[in-house]
Amino acid sequence: MFGWRRPQARRITGIATAVLTLAGALSLAAPAGAAAGDRQGAGPEAAVAERLVERGRAEAEVAAAHDATRVNVTRDTGGWAFGTAVLATEPGSRRMPRGWLFLAEREGGSWRVALEGEERFAELSRRSPLVEPEEKPLFAGLDGGQDRQDKAPGGGGPGGEVVAYGAGDYRTGMALPTTVGASTVMTSGPHGWGGSAAPWSSLDFAGGDEVVRAARQGTAYTMCRGWIRVVHDRGYATDYYHLWNNINTDGGWVNTGAFLGYTGTDVTCGGAAYGRHVHFGLIQNGSYIPLAGHNLGKWVIYNGSAAYQGSAMHGSRRVGAGGALYNYGALGLNQAVIDANGGGHVNKRTGPGTGHAIAGSAADGATVTVSCSASGTSHTGRYGTTSLWNRLSDGTWISDAYVWSGVNGPISGWC
Ligand SMILES: [Zn+2]
Repeated sequence: MFGWRRPQARRITGIATAVLTLAGALSLAAPAGAAAGDRQGAGPEAAVAERLVERGRAEAEVAAAHDATRVNVTRDTGGWAFGTAVLATEPGSRRMPRGWLFLAEREGGSWRVALEGEERFAELSRRSPLVEPEEKPLFAGLDGGQDRQDKAPGGGGPGGEVVAYGAGDYRTGMALPTTVGASTVMTSGPHGWGGSAAPWSSLDFAGGDEVVRAARQGTAYTMCRGWIRVVHDRGYATDYYHLWNNINTDGGWVNTGAFLGYTGTDVTCGGAAYGRHVHFGLIQNGSYIPLAGHNLGKWVIYNGSAAYQGSAMHGSRRVGAGGALYNYGALGLNQAVIDANGGGHVNKRTGPGTGHAIAGSAADGATVTVSCSASGTSHTGRYGTTSLWNRLSDGTWISDAYVWSGVNGPISGWC
């Protein structure tokens, strides 16, 4: 599809019908503040917990004194260890847990620890024998790591409109985390992983068949009972929390749409869930990032004026929080959704401009595949004015003003 390797699913041990073994012999559960000094063991747990608390405090203002560090070593050989590191909060509290994959390398008598998203994590992953071949390009996936500072739309215009033009690359190649070809209610629009605080990285879904599915292919990890993370290409990862009967996996490959679990109310690692749903979060390079402006299942996500509000748009059709989103599947990285900026259809032309003959039309909301792009006549659409035209896979041309492609520029190169 995208030149992406699809190895056999591995290390997925099936649907967990009982409590996962997070608190097993290799795990450490200790008060966050007390972990740092506990270094007498040979394992990396104490060093990972120390790094975990640092990261939590620096990035998420978590790691309160009563939080627990849950370090689960899932792979351990020679001088290396790999696993999940979670700062768990109180079940029922409004504060959500945070977690990262970790890699640790023994050097002398101590452990060098790196968490997901850190340059050292990418560096260690290239050398570690514990990192599987299909994981290596994902863990080193800093190619999507251009500065996100100027890419946070955050409601840049009236009604929280996203101004995608002039900003970065919003392509995710992701479906909604629901069943493709079915509708599921977006019970809450963009909000934080841990409530109302920015970045608004998260959406809630419930209803339909209540099945939670991988938004895009990648390697999957059970962070905690009820919490799955899938690591994708281009530096992205996605989180799925509050699940019931989720898969139990340590790096197993999942395709887009793979079953991860059911919507639920699980709060094993902390946080609150009022009624069954999946709390879905978008991560890039190890940190939660704003969802607004990105596309999931051919819907562009928009912030509202407050957390949990907001909307999604498919072409010119807008659905607010509380409405049902039909999952159209993933938009390819070389594809675009027709946005006629008011409905109806958009003319296709035989060349890059309105001086060329009409060669059919594309309906609002339709998916087109872009072969290449060129400069042509200038037009103004939902996101601004552009002279870019796209040559489609059928040889016709369409103005870039009337598509959502996720990039203000060519997505398949120049013609
Ligand atoms: Zn949520």
